[in-house]
Amino acid sequence: MKYMEHLRSNNGIFQENIENTLEKHQAQPVGSGYIDIISDPMLVESLITELTTIGIAIYGVSWWCFCSDENRERHGCPHGMGGPKSVYREGWYSEMGLEYESFDIPLNVYDKFELSSVTVEDVSTLNDSIRNYIQEFSHDKRYDKCFNPALWLHVPREWKRIKYMKH
Ligand SMILES: [Zn+2]
Repeated sequence: MKYMEHLRSNNGIFQENIENTLEKHQAQPVGSGYIDIISDPMLVESLITELTTIGIAIYGVSWWCFCSDENRERHGCPHGMGGPKSVYREGWYSEMGLEYESFDIPLNVYDKFELSSVTVEDVSTLNDSIRNYIQEFSHDKRYDKCFNPALWLHVPREWKRIKYMKH
């Protein structure tokens, strides 16, 4: 079965699994769906591993500066634009903007997940490339220690969250 059809035909289970995983890793989605999920840098690797386990692909990463009193002093935050208050920590997230820095998977890979069948290995390989990008950018000279990665999940566009941080 095609990846998207597979997700749509089991939407209750998949959405439940995704939201449990996000909650367990204290990840904070911006908006009502499954994109721009601001992740704790200490927990993001485990989060990606668990998303792979439940069969959910990630197609992009954007960056948010975590503006706390301490980071303001140490790193000169905020570094970006406005954004939401953090649910788990004292402070708020400042959006860096996609033109500053972001990562998108290659278009042919995106289309494959959009239109075709994929294997467990395909999800794993793709999510590993996301993990590698985050590790690499964390050593880039443009990276500041206040930056948090936000994950964009490859799920049906019409999906809205069913219970977790529902606005
Ligand atoms: Zn900052």
